[in-house]
Amino acid sequence: MIIQVAIAIPVNSLFDYLAPDGIDAISPGCRVLVPFGKHKKVGFVISTSENSDVNTDRLKPIIEILDTSPLISEKDIQLLSWASRYYHYPLGEVFSAAFPVSLRKGKKAQLSQEKHYKISAKGECLNPEQLKRTPKQKQIFELFLPPVTSLSSNQLSQQDKNWRPAVKSLLEKDLLTIELQAKALSHSASIPEKALQANEQQTQAINQISAQLGQFSVTLLEGITGSGKTEVYMQVIQQVLDLGQQVLVLLPEITLTPQLEDRFKRRFSVGISRSHSKLTDPQRLSAWLEMQQRHSSILLGTRSALFTPLKKPGLIILDEEHDSSFKQQEGFRFSARDLAIVRGKLLNIPVILGTATPSLESLYNAQNKRYQLLHLSERAGVAINPQFLLFDIRNQQLQDGLSPPLIAQIKKTLAKKEQVLLFLNRRGFAPVQICHSCAWVARCHHCDTSLVIHFDERRLRCHHCGYQQHLSNQCPSCKTGELKPLGLGTERVEKSLHALFPTQKVVRLDRDSTQRKGALEDHLEQINQGKVDIILGTQMLAKGHHFPNVTLVAILDVDSGLFSIDFHATEKLAQLIIQVAGRAGRAEKPGKVILQTRQPGHPLLTVLLKDGYNSFAQSALVERQQAMLPPYSSQALLRVYATNPIDPQNLLKRVCEIIQNMETHHTLVLGPVSAPMAKRAGNYHFQLLLQNNQRKYLQLLLDQLIPELYRLKEAKKVRWSLDVDPVDLY
Ligand code: ADP
Ligand code: ZN
Ligand code: ZN
Repeated sequence: MIIQVAIAIPVNSLFDYLAPDGIDAISPGCRVLVPFGKHKKVGFVISTSENSDVNTDRLKPIIEILDTSPLISEKDIQLLSWASRYYHYPLGEVFSAAFPVSLRKGKKAQLSQEKHYKISAKGECLNPEQLKRTPKQKQIFELFLPPVTSLSSNQLSQQDKNWRPAVKSLLEKDLLTIELQAKALSHSASIPEKALQANEQQTQAINQISAQLGQFSVTLLEGITGSGKTEVYMQVIQQVLDLGQQVLVLLPEITLTPQLEDRFKRRFSVGISRSHSKLTDPQRLSAWLEMQQRHSSILLGTRSALFTPLKKPGLIILDEEHDSSFKQQEGFRFSARDLAIVRGKLLNIPVILGTATPSLESLYNAQNKRYQLLHLSERAGVAINPQFLLFDIRNQQLQDGLSPPLIAQIKKTLAKKEQVLLFLNRRGFAPVQICHSCAWVARCHHCDTSLVIHFDERRLRCHHCGYQQHLSNQCPSCKTGELKPLGLGTERVEKSLHALFPTQKVVRLDRDSTQRKGALEDHLEQINQGKVDIILGTQMLAKGHHFPNVTLVAILDVDSGLFSIDFHATEKLAQLIIQVAGRAGRAEKPGKVILQTRQPGHPLLTVLLKDGYNSFAQSALVERQQAMLPPYSSQALLRVYATNPIDPQNLLKRVCEIIQNMETHHTLVLGPVSAPMAKRAGNYHFQLLLQNNQRKYLQLLLDQLIPELYRLKEAKKVRWSLDVDPVDLY
């Protein structure tokens, strides 16, 4: 018997091995240890067959079968194979991405265990009165009497802090024994909270979705921030749990907050696992196995949690579906949203995509009736929609980015003892340091970009490669001029706020201020306790958090997002504005949203503010159609870089020649061009964009091109990657 094994190396093929002696069946989905060159590697069994393309004399036997039963189902193997074909990424690496690190390394697929103590056979024959001369032992022994079956260390500590010496003696007397059990999950409410009384729109959404349980469907749940989407999810989840099935809830990294987790834990009395990038390898392994073995019924996770095996799959929910963090941006560049739909189809279960600001792709699919579209257009409970104001800041005297009318609004809000949230998507003090006399600018030597001033640390830092140097104020070029900060960062605005409002508490939330572990949680805690008056931050603030006392939200610099060479930028800006605005007035108090701009007549802003996100999205779709951009066409971006600018261009020229000799079905070949920021961390980046109005023709071309690319000698001198359905063109 020949076993086809996928191994995590950048080669687009499977490897054949012989079954170990005496073994005549290995199931697909098991891991095996195989010889590979001079090393041993962990591989994944994909299939078995009678014969091989390779001469069987040259095949080596598998060293060890690591699993007694498959870790993932046949359907999930199909999912990963589909993903490998669609993203043109080696199957071994795709498998590797779907498994927790510990399993990739060949560790046992076993939940971590803990010691439990229970009465031994000898102990069962004992009358506890016989222990009366050692009262402590008697007291502890009695804790184990029926109906108790066994107790863990934790459970014992809860009953009696000082249990250890007595248990030790009882073990020595053979009256107790130790047993290893899977670690209990730290769930959950013993008396779960009741569901809220759903409003009319929520009821309709819940009914529509529950009518489709047990079969594949995609629902786009478009609900403004605060409209009660999470409540809809939870009521549908309850029905799925009642059927004995499991639920996968995918969230953007940043919204996987303790707040949301607590909400789920208070509502459901089932095991809830979570999986995201801040957890340790063993924690992620536990979550994976808990779902696989059905110790848990709900998984809250980010992008890569999509691949978690489900023993009884019932429903997949993707919240904030428009969020670009669902697209992996390096290595295996998959879209968790798109693969969630493929998985839902394979498993024949419903998929819910929820958001206040649907992606243009999803709206397009809803319009084509591929998805069912449901609306929640009112804020749930008592909250009122916020009011939008455009502040024209041309000819205004700004104080570090704050216009006088904005400062007046901040004062008014603070006087009412309400909170203010200011949004600026740039960290550091200022993005540029420039010489006042000769206009020299501090630039990174490794990247095509300027260095950012970090005033608190007295440093200049490159936000792209991490290069840093000391801050000085004398120009190294003309030697006489004074260096000045140019532009705005959160650090600079923070200083200005301290000066303007010396008695108010200001908190800055960005990647720098939250580096210390637990810092973000501390800040959020302070905000929620009302100890903070002004919250200033980057996109870290945009979503997920619920700040009930914020009534004024201001976006300090909208314009920086209006002029980008990437066609995705306007969509992202519109989503960001609406998401940030969603932080205003989430509870009883009405909110106000102020946008500072020098482009008050810009159509994006006027349409968005006057007619709402949906009108914006409709006009953006018309523009995309006229330009035949996605979702009206499909794209793939071939990115190449090297430490010199020649090799990448040579490879892309060669690729263009190859494409010229192929039947391309009118595929547009745009490039080769240098990437928008060509030099990054000492590397020169170039790219080639392929686009076809029909996805299948683009795929056909890639099917032929990519295997050839692996073989090209020009490809060996560079690093290259293919991005199917890129979400940005950098
Ligand atoms: P979203 O996920 O759409 O932002 P949430 O589900 O978080 O909205 O709901 C926003 C707020 O409204 C929450 O505090 C929630 O408890 C409350 N809420 C949701 N549905 C209802 C309802 N039917 N009745 C009363 N309050 C509700
Ligand atoms: Zn100078
Ligand atoms: Zn740099």
